Amino acid sequence: MSSETLFTKIVNREIPADIIYEDDLLLAFKDINPQAPFHALVIPKQVIATANDITAENSDVVGKMYVAAAKIAKQEGFADDGYRLVMNCNEHGGQTVYHIHLHVLGGKPMGWPPYTDKAKKA
Ligand code: 5GP
Repeated sequence: MSSETLFTKIVNREIPADIIYEDDLLLAFKDINPQAPFHALVIPKQVIATANDITAENSDVVGKMYVAAAKIAKQEGFADDGYRLVMNCNEHGGQTVYHIHLHVLGGKPMGWPPYTDKAKKA
């Protein structure tokens, strides 16, 4: 498992980000390319590459990612209206950064299913 990712560089303040939440285990920051009026990423500080690498041993931090996401939604004021939490996995899931992250998307109604044109043609 890699110990250095784009997101560990954000954790270590080697590259800048708009950080909105931090505790011992987690960091949350605004996505650089937002897909909704509010779009943040919640990450574990430890590197877990993909959802496939979530195990009984590291699942505690994954649960805490959801607790943080709900807290952020309440703080941002869209918890009651609703929002979307997404974790993409590997190529077909659209994952581009191999350090798990929970997308927190809110501030507008969202459609379902979320397929792109690329996926529809497959
Ligand atoms: P994925 O495609 O892996 O599910 O999501 C990766 C997310 O990271 C994308 O939404 C992308 O916009 C975001 N991202 C990529 N590079 C950076 C960066 O340097 N800073 C921030 N804040 N977000 C990034």
